[in-house]
Amino acid sequence: MRVLLARPPRRDLRDAGLPVPPLGLAYVAAALRAAGHAVEILDAYALGWSWARFDQHIAAARPEVLGLSAMTPVADVAARAARLARPHVGRVLLGGPHPTAVHHAVFDEMPELDAAIAGEAEESAPALLRWWAAGGAGPPPPGALVRGWPLVEAEPPALAQIPLPARDLLPMGSYRYLLATRPGFATMLTSRGCPFSCSFCDKSVSGSRWRARSPIEVVDELELLERDYGVGFVNFYDDNFTLRRDRVVGICEELLRRGLRVEWKCEGRVDGVDLPLLRLMRRAGCRTVAYGVESGNQATLDLLRKDVTVAQAPAAFAATRAAGLRSLAYMILGAPGEGEAEVAESLRFCHALGADYVQFSSLMPMPGTPLTAQHAGRAATGGRNPVDSDRERVILSDLPPERLDALMRRAWTGFYLRPAPLRRLAGDALASGSLWEAARLGAGFGRWALGA
Ligand code: SF4
Repeated sequence: MRVLLARPPRRDLRDAGLPVPPLGLAYVAAALRAAGHAVEILDAYALGWSWARFDQHIAAARPEVLGLSAMTPVADVAARAARLARPHVGRVLLGGPHPTAVHHAVFDEMPELDAAIAGEAEESAPALLRWWAAGGAGPPPPGALVRGWPLVEAEPPALAQIPLPARDLLPMGSYRYLLATRPGFATMLTSRGCPFSCSFCDKSVSGSRWRARSPIEVVDELELLERDYGVGFVNFYDDNFTLRRDRVVGICEELLRRGLRVEWKCEGRVDGVDLPLLRLMRRAGCRTVAYGVESGNQATLDLLRKDVTVAQAPAAFAATRAAGLRSLAYMILGAPGEGEAEVAESLRFCHALGADYVQFSSLMPMPGTPLTAQHAGRAATGGRNPVDSDRERVILSDLPPERLDALMRRAWTGFYLRPAPLRRLAGDALASGSLWEAARLGAGFGRWALGA
């Protein structure tokens, strides 16, 4: 079949969000291509296309299947793309975290859909196309959401069996990342799933069973990225890159043995790192480690079921600094139970950590998470931050949305409008060739900070 996998344009062309590769679409494209389909990826977001141009392209291409992906905060963008494309395509298929979380309810939200995929799609999507090609008689394959049929959950694919993402179908020269330290940017997954049980975390696609690729497989892909695509910086998208210490050591030692120059960033937990490991990571090209600190209040950490204490974060940040690495702290402001005093406490805590970068967010009730079930019916809108791509952010908070908005602005401007973070970000933009994108982002930040 002729398949077009598409990332729709920005909601608003003034949206300054940086384009990162749509890794999920590239994985599915590779799997569909291996199954014999003719696959194209259109990344209209990265290319800066308008909605009119997107519509024209689909009308001209007339694919037999249009594949889209959606996270819950941007599900309305996928819905708009499905509506536009419907008259021009044979079938419309949606994958990603949103259909995985809401299952058949997605057909009420997006009546144009013919089917959706719940969970990882590398095996379910080719199986669904085979089912369609055979006439769609009998039950659909596991993982496929089809009207009138119950979902049979699919086993996640074995990572060693699925082909590498089809990056040759992506405009690789268009991707940028603000914290990259070298030109040429890519994202990668070395593991999937996370065994922890944080109450706010939407792990619906890859679940709780952690599955990892071997150090050799990981470094083979890094070598290919450096050699074939000129990639100088990789952001590992793993939920928990540092979960198994021996595997991280193996990846670092293999990187050093092969002498790759690629630099990278990963995500870890504050209870999952130590100074010798961080020093080895630094030698092997790591430049930044991001930690889900979330809060400086133990009651909030307990509500979020982070399974760490407030005291563990300072040690991890000190070790990261001592290893010569930069740190990024993810912080949640105004979680249920937090008033202004608790938000102020979290901000003091965050500044004392000495993080090089911080991302402050409000708490979104993601469908299917324990926290959302616990606080059903309580959501309001507000609490946006300058890097959210959702327009009307749904939040869980005891603070009035306008107060949370004001606190969010104070947090971001209080952290970033200081000489050291500005110098650091300007240096990164220069090193990674992203000056234009950083300027756009800075202008967007300014508009947001002024409430424009
Ligand atoms: S927040 Fe991080 S550590 Fe917690 S469950 Fe999600 S991925 Fe795992």
